[in-house]
Amino acid sequence: MNKSSNGIDYLLELNTRHAQAFIDLAAERRRYRGEHPTEIAALKCMDGRLHLPVITQTALGIIQPFRNLGGKFDLGWPFFQVIIDQWVQYSISRGRHCLVFVTYHFARGDSHRGCRGFSYDTEAAKAAAIKLRDQFIRVYGNTAVVPIVCGIETDLDALILHGEDDRSVVDLAKIKQSSQIELEEMLYSLYPSMPERIVRDLIPLVRGNIRHIAEIRAANRPVEDAEHKEWVLGVGRGFDWLHLINTAFIVGPFDPNLSVTIETAAKLLKGNIDEGRVDPNNIVLMTSAAFRDEGGPEYHLAKEKALFLSKFALNIIKDKVPDLVPHLQILTGFTDLDTRKFEVIERLDAAPIKKAKTA
Ligand SMILES: [Zn+2]
Repeated sequence: MNKSSNGIDYLLELNTRHAQAFIDLAAERRRYRGEHPTEIAALKCMDGRLHLPVITQTALGIIQPFRNLGGKFDLGWPFFQVIIDQWVQYSISRGRHCLVFVTYHFARGDSHRGCRGFSYDTEAAKAAAIKLRDQFIRVYGNTAVVPIVCGIETDLDALILHGEDDRSVVDLAKIKQSSQIELEEMLYSLYPSMPERIVRDLIPLVRGNIRHIAEIRAANRPVEDAEHKEWVLGVGRGFDWLHLINTAFIVGPFDPNLSVTIETAAKLLKGNIDEGRVDPNNIVLMTSAAFRDEGGPEYHLAKEKALFLSKFALNIIKDKVPDLVPHLQILTGFTDLDTRKFEVIERLDAAPIKKAKTA
């Protein structure tokens, strides 16, 4: 972020740019959907590096992201199961298959560039992903809805595809061939029971990732800073426009222990201030509710939800991490899923805090 700019203004400008790109891609999305009808969701950590549209070179809005601390989810969570089931029922009603990427992340060069939500323990993150995938299979079987475990390796942005049997694993950074037949063979050997329709719709993502990895290698991209410099605490949904490294901790509203997740993220944010990694005058608590305008009460319900969540989060911070409160700027709004435009309901710019001077 440009240090001289105001955090809220920066976020709003970023959203405006993203929403414009999203709208510009509408025709491309329609064309793509016609060719590849499978609905795709990705369950992933809130880490800003995990930008699947970029990593797979897929138009924005094709992959539906669900983000939470550590990428931890449970189909037993009441709100989460409602959201997922709505998505599944919507897809099935349109005669579409569902592909669910159940992800974990790590960095091949250094475990400390891995997932902070799992204390950098990649094996634990992987085990949680396998457990979640098995939960999907218990509920939905694996024909109309197919969950796959997928690692995201952030040094090269490579996808690591775990097969149905958990023994076969393919690191796309090691794949050179990319003809249609070779990729189909690879996917059928990983996923023998995957419907043909899904295989065909998964191939463009695989091919896109192989191309992306080649570009990262050619550009010799330096590995991202291992240090965390997040300065935004995002609560709610509709944040897929906020996909920058070292910017935001995003807490979805899915976890029934939401207050604990907010507290954890607030403590991480306070840690970033205490260790001098971020500007103490540019810390933002941003709340977003997501809606699709269907002519009903959705718009107003989203507004009420955003206001509620914002107060809820602020009260938890006041209670559990009170030293963070004086640093907070507050931005509350809601995101139209058809345009990705964030509409501001409330904004509160904090008074600047002087940095303590050493004598
Ligand atoms: Zn993570």
